[in-house]
Amino acid sequence: MVELDDKIGSRFEWMSRGELAEWQSEALAKTVLQAAKSPWYSAVFRKMGIDPASIKSPEDIVKLPFTTKEDLRLSYPTGMLTIDPEDLIRLHTSSGTTGTPTAILHSRADIDCWAELMARCLAMTGANSKDVFQNMSGYGMFTGGLGLHYGAERLGMMVIPAGPGNTARQIKLIRDFHGTCIHATPSYAMHVAERMIQEGDDPKSLGIKRAFLGAEPYTEEMRLKLQELYGFKVFNSYGLSEMNGPGVAFECPEQNGMHVWEDAFLVEIVNPETLEPVAEGEVGELVMTTLRREAMPIIRYRTRDLTCILPGECPCGRVHRRLARMTGRSDDMLIVRGVNVFPSQIEEVIMRHKWIGGNYVIHLTKAEALDQMTVRVELAKGEFDGSIETVRNLRAQLHKELREQVGFNVNIEVLEPGSLPASEGKAKRVIDEREY
Ligand code: AMP
Ligand code: ZN
Repeated sequence: MVELDDKIGSRFEWMSRGELAEWQSEALAKTVLQAAKSPWYSAVFRKMGIDPASIKSPEDIVKLPFTTKEDLRLSYPTGMLTIDPEDLIRLHTSSGTTGTPTAILHSRADIDCWAELMARCLAMTGANSKDVFQNMSGYGMFTGGLGLHYGAERLGMMVIPAGPGNTARQIKLIRDFHGTCIHATPSYAMHVAERMIQEGDDPKSLGIKRAFLGAEPYTEEMRLKLQELYGFKVFNSYGLSEMNGPGVAFECPEQNGMHVWEDAFLVEIVNPETLEPVAEGEVGELVMTTLRREAMPIIRYRTRDLTCILPGECPCGRVHRRLARMTGRSDDMLIVRGVNVFPSQIEEVIMRHKWIGGNYVIHLTKAEALDQMTVRVELAKGEFDGSIETVRNLRAQLHKELREQVGFNVNIEVLEPGSLPASEGKAKRVIDEREY
């Protein structure tokens, strides 16, 4: 149990590197022994001739196999369970962005630890019990709802569990109850702002101070645009259901990389092809091992998310290392005319223009065996002077900048504000209609 006076795990938050290393060795050894109680890992260890008791420190991690999403599917529903099912208190699933969802089972201690980590993230941004927090994330199986909810309650914030959608009601609730913090996907936060502007309202008038945005990749340019529209500070929030959900890594007031809570997660960055560790500061696939999970420990989980560890120490004084903004997922990469393109490269260019709204779609088709990329954007309400000349210039400008960015010609379609489908959760940015 967490002690009352340390409900956010401050003793972990402010550990030195030495203390953290000691804790990690102990926690990893325990985790592997615990995992060996599950049918899945006991079979894997037996097959590979691994003695779970031989794992004593983070350096030993390389002796253990990776766990993939496919492994989670194969072991569904309870193959990785290590405790009596009667001691479970919660089930969550991943959102199934890619294929069938996977199930994660939690004990009371697991839910307690998750709430602690989440509360720690929120407190780190400067939020406290006086804040009024509107959670615009989906409740239910998706971890963004209950994950943030338990963390915010633990911190003593007043929580408005609004869930996603119903934009008019979101705005009313924030106004009526003086919401100071929100949690949403960046695409939904953008949609709310644009709806307000279209209706002649000003997002700044809501008086929100902090926005915790994550669950999908977004660029620094998108953050800047949102901060300008609302006048709040955006804190990047990273997590995935397999590692609880949100609360894995979060930005501190420096807003420069996300501290990943290394008391709870052992972090590796590997080359996704060779699975060898990358050099410090190099981008690779994030791999994580749970260090404080009871019911369902997961070892060396391949997240598919691409990031790097930021070198150097954070001026805030926390030694938990910082993950750079995700550049995307390894399975998100588009290959267009043989060129590797990440949707984030397109977003970076779009967000620089105040004439253009925050919603966009990348449409891929084929014409005479040649890949075609069309980028659809919307004009920003209030910034547009209504002239065809402006639209023409804007298209030409975007065309030029995108060609410089990706190295081939991209078709641009500039649409009226509100023409593209709005997202309430994770935005679907890419439509790939090429036939292979
Ligand atoms: P889920 O399976 O619903 O838990 O979604 C987890 C996935 O969402 C992660 O593996 C990432 O691909 C993505 N994700 C979550 N937070 C962020 C973030 N802050 N930046 C980029 N991608 C994110
Ligand atoms: Zn920091």
